Amino acid sequence: MSSETKFNAWAAYASKEPLKPFQYVPRPLGPSDIEIKISHCGICGSDLHTIESDWGTPNFPVVVGHEIVGTVVKAGPSVSNLAVGDIVGVGAQVYACRGEDCRECSHDLDPHCPKGVFTYNAKYADGENAYGGYSESVRVDSHYAFKIPAEISNAEAAPLMCAGATVFTPMLEHKMKAGDRVGVVGIGGLGHLAIQFANGLGCKVTAISHSLNKKEECTKLGASEFIYTGDATQAETAKKSLDYLIITSNSKSNDYGLYGSLVDYNGKIILLAAPSTNLELSPFFFISNQVYIGGSLIGGIKQIKATLEFAAKHNIRPLIEKVPMANVNEGLDKVREGKVRYRVVLEN
Ligand SMILES: [Zn+2]
Ligand SMILES: [Zn+2]
Repeated sequence: MSSETKFNAWAAYASKEPLKPFQYVPRPLGPSDIEIKISHCGICGSDLHTIESDWGTPNFPVVVGHEIVGTVVKAGPSVSNLAVGDIVGVGAQVYACRGEDCRECSHDLDPHCPKGVFTYNAKYADGENAYGGYSESVRVDSHYAFKIPAEISNAEAAPLMCAGATVFTPMLEHKMKAGDRVGVVGIGGLGHLAIQFANGLGCKVTAISHSLNKKEECTKLGASEFIYTGDATQAETAKKSLDYLIITSNSKSNDYGLYGSLVDYNGKIILLAAPSTNLELSPFFFISNQVYIGGSLIGGIKQIKATLEFAAKHNIRPLIEKVPMANVNEGLDKVREGKVRYRVVLEN
């Protein structure tokens, strides 16, 4: 009888099929690695984009999930930052070189490290596949597992690992501060956290949505203004009223021209969501409005730590719907249908 360790996970075998049970032999536990018994994993929009081949055909079978929280059950001999029994979270990245001579890692841009490994649909340098959090367990480099502050529950910590860090990272990068006027387009998994983080920084937050029925909730989350994009006069009235506009909407019908009109001179538009359509804007859009546009990927080590600390301190919590891991396909359907307020978290 083999004593080989196997992990039970849920994998996509093809883009239009439901996930099915999948068993795999985890990569050997390296000296700096830990093994996590997963309690929760959030469903991120990237999971769906990957499964559905929106960003190219993934390496099937693919186990997605990069908002992972659980308990450390094994630690390699060189692990010094964590111990067995710790509650930790893992986001969208599981490895970077962290070298002083790495241009990216040495500037806290480790998500862009040329040797970086994402949490799923990726390969380690030794050729082993990286499998994500729709699973009972996972093994990752200990530097990419982060202690969850005691005041945050496992389930609520999960969405902070990708969605939370993704929205807070550009706020840190651009040094957003009290009094800045920050707009958030798309009130979903990322957007509802962006409102809370910007509010925590003391910014004046405007929520922008095509769902009028989200207004009340946005106010509770910390938005002082709400623009309903279904009413053209509201956007017209709010022209040039923002210093920053964070776009989290994945919709293929995003009206970037309209969004840009809300940004004041020298303001910045920050893209965080990647619908599979291209952005079409005339150079005149930038020239005549005198606005800037850019994007941000995920959070690195420094930013994820800052995200967890800030969330704990400012009582920032995602609004979640828990779904048993065994009902993962039901959870994915909820996200596909856009019915979730605001993050599905799978629970083992
Ligand atoms: Zn994500
Ligand atoms: Zn590096």
